[in-house]
Amino acid sequence: MVASQGVKVSTVEKGAVKDLRANVRGEVVAPGDGAYEGARRVWNGSIDRYPALIARCTGAADIMAAVKFARRTGLPVAVRSGGHSFPGLSVCDGGLVIDLSLMKGIRVDPYKRTARAQAGVLLGELDRETQQFGLAVPAGIVTHTGLAGLTLGGGIGWLMRKFGLTIDQLLSVDLITADGEFVKASERENADLFWGVRGGGGNFGIVTEFEFRLNPLGPNVVAGPIFWPMEESPRLLRFYRDWIKEAPEELMTIVVHRKAPPLPFVPPELHGKPVVSVVCCYAGPIEEGQEVVRPLKSFGSPVLDLCEPKPFLVHQAMLDPSFKHGWWYYVRACDVAELTDEVIDITADHAMRIKSPMTAFPIWQMGGAVARVGENETAFNGRTAGYTFNITAMTETAEGFDEEREWVRSFWSALAPYHTSVYVNFLMEEGEERIRQAYGPAKYERLKALKRKYDPTNFFRMNQNIKPNAK
Ligand SMILES: Cc1cc2nc3c(=O)[nH]c(=O)nc-3n(C[C@H](O)[C@H](O)[C@H](O)COP(=O)(O)OP(=O)(O)OC[C@H]3O[C@@H](n4cnc5c(N)ncnc54)[C@H](O)[C@@H]3O)c2cc1C
Repeated sequence: MVASQGVKVSTVEKGAVKDLRANVRGEVVAPGDGAYEGARRVWNGSIDRYPALIARCTGAADIMAAVKFARRTGLPVAVRSGGHSFPGLSVCDGGLVIDLSLMKGIRVDPYKRTARAQAGVLLGELDRETQQFGLAVPAGIVTHTGLAGLTLGGGIGWLMRKFGLTIDQLLSVDLITADGEFVKASERENADLFWGVRGGGGNFGIVTEFEFRLNPLGPNVVAGPIFWPMEESPRLLRFYRDWIKEAPEELMTIVVHRKAPPLPFVPPELHGKPVVSVVCCYAGPIEEGQEVVRPLKSFGSPVLDLCEPKPFLVHQAMLDPSFKHGWWYYVRACDVAELTDEVIDITADHAMRIKSPMTAFPIWQMGGAVARVGENETAFNGRTAGYTFNITAMTETAEGFDEEREWVRSFWSALAPYHTSVYVNFLMEEGEERIRQAYGPAKYERLKALKRKYDPTNFFRMNQNIKPNAK
């Protein structure tokens, strides 16, 4: 049997597939099944891979069965939770996808202020449960992103400057190893593994469930974007970098350059016009937040100001329509220490050259609670970064994609003299050297040693891979 594009599925014996179906409570999807086309698709529409089988797991037992099956058959394995890996690392050609997207269990304990979430949970699903109690796990900025992949790489977002990264809230994980065995990891149990999963991605096993500490938040916050014409960018960014130095840790900002999208909250006369916005979120009392953002609101003549008190859940969903499933995406990322005049001028110059009506690139303000955790306490690197650039090209289809991708590459290269590090969750498939840069040499060595202990055969390699014996 041939799936498509020449990928042979006959390498998996029929008897073995029957065996997997018998051992997995969830669905096992194969080429030719009605569910196959939908199940192989990931968020980035430019990724088009044809797995031999997809095991849609319902719990730890299914995952253990799937891992043991792959061991027996020798099939390569990809692990999928939210499917939002930029380079599409959660789907593979001709292998087994261990798909956790059906595992949606969430349990909030408002008394202990903890939450347990299974691997298939998306950010918006977790927020919905925790905000019911005025609590939150700091995570990302788009509700349909997977909690699992985001957490395993670190997790940056609106609340990080106040409360820290997503991994800084992690109390424990349940994990299935490359041998298909169940282990727990926390500060007390398998502490080395717990260090590694906080930033080291899916290199050491499949996390089935996360346990987080919760933080008080909202439900209302002062949040939203303020827009200026893009020609104002050099002046605005110079004002912004000085103003932000004095800002309290409650305030998190992201600068976005793009053509104004045709969304309901954007007046029609702005649609398609190049704009620069500073998106704010103040994780503290409303009156305080209003006072803090006042100077920014008074800078120049904003063309639109949507920064106001609103439910945190509303703010969290604001960017969702700008990152639709199935569009084509390409990303290059870097951290820089400061928004120097040179960095600002390069940014403004390249922003003016955006062609696609969808392309929008965020510059993340870092610091605050993120930087108060020691560099060596977790595998995450770059806690002292000043700003994270996530230069993203977006097109609706393949049309115009190559040109927009070239724009990304030239922008990223122009910033090269100012690169300090890179956030591992914003890497494409860029090779081992870039993964080493993402962790820095000392942490990379430590991760390699951990990989030799927990996954010496590199069974989990569809990820930002730490090769156990890399030179
Ligand atoms: C629209 C969008 C918005 C984003 N916003 C943010 C943001 O605000 N902050 C931020 O920090 N990052 C953000 N990211 C990056 C995001 O953190 C990564 O893309 C992350 O990998 C997504 O997780 P996922 O579960 O959806 O991914 P998947 O594609 O399912 O998996 C990504 C990687 O993690 C591995 N993996 C997944 N689940 C598990 C598991 N349970 N156990 C072990 N390994 C596993 C996969 O094998 C793969 O290598 C964003 C990405 C997108 C596309």
